[in-house]
Amino acid sequence: MARATRAAALALGLALLGACGGGDDTRAVEPSPTPATTLPPPTATVTPRPTATASATPTRSPAARVPAAGGIDELGRIPILMYHQIRTKLRAPSDRTPAQFRADLRRLHAEGYRPVTAADYVAGNIDLPVGTHPVVLTFDDSSAGQAQIGPDGEPEPDTALGILEAFGRAHPDFRPTATFFVLTNRIPFNDPDVLPWLAANGYEIGAHTQSHPQLPDLDDLAVQEQIGANVADIEAAVPGYRVRTFATPYGRLPRNPELAWRGSHNGVPYEFTGVFGTGGTAALSPFAPAFDPYAIPRLAAGLSAAEAVLAELRRRPELRYTSDGGPDRVSGGRRASA
Ligand SMILES: [Zn+2]
Repeated sequence: MARATRAAALALGLALLGACGGGDDTRAVEPSPTPATTLPPPTATVTPRPTATASATPTRSPAARVPAAGGIDELGRIPILMYHQIRTKLRAPSDRTPAQFRADLRRLHAEGYRPVTAADYVAGNIDLPVGTHPVVLTFDDSSAGQAQIGPDGEPEPDTALGILEAFGRAHPDFRPTATFFVLTNRIPFNDPDVLPWLAANGYEIGAHTQSHPQLPDLDDLAVQEQIGANVADIEAAVPGYRVRTFATPYGRLPRNPELAWRGSHNGVPYEFTGVFGTGGTAALSPFAPAFDPYAIPRLAAGLSAAEAVLAELRRRPELRYTSDGGPDRVSGGRRASA
């Protein structure tokens, strides 16, 4: 194994340890040990890149950039929030109540954030009104509090999905969307209607393995089974759907990190445009030169690292990605070396 690969695995292992608890796992979701008040570079910069990255490269070239003006900057940072259980009774530090989640949305909206999916973020498909800031909302482990479809065919109102939909109806300038990184060793969300509903309504379904193992403990074959069968399960549940992004369980890469972004199972290949971990800092713009789509940091919603990052981005709005309102050009450049 190449030295760079080992170094990357070590760095990510240290940075991401303790992330993303399992479905019914009540383990704490640890924020980064260092409060991210100064927005350090994400761990992404040390990850080896695959040789063929064309499918993950933002489609717009650097030549399309224009100088920043009036606070517009599409090279700024983007917070990617990671949610686990949404339930009335808090049992783990990563849990949020429905009321807390509603408050999170009110706060994000008031601070000018608008949601985009993980796949659209990676691809640079960030089509938002001028002056607004992208945020990526992600939900791990596919628990029932995240999404349920009622007898009327609509999301149950106290699930995260129902809350997002209601918020969008009340705030027409906030198109509700999110990415759900689902497990498939049981029916995701314990409701077979959820995955088709998500796909039909502009939400993203991402991979998160079959059963949430510690990927570093598995051999290459088992890693590819966990990921490849998960992708196959999702695509079988939603005919025609293509899974584009993956979140590593516990934020930990397999010993062979490349298998987190591509591999094959039962002769069927899988390949992602983006791989999401944790890391306790805001993510880079997909247009930033140092952006690495295979090690994207996320923030555990409600925990101290996320609060510190959001507070820092509020205090220093010049750090944020601020949309120019035009999806066909990339504005900014003050921090081209970010
Ligand atoms: Zn997880």
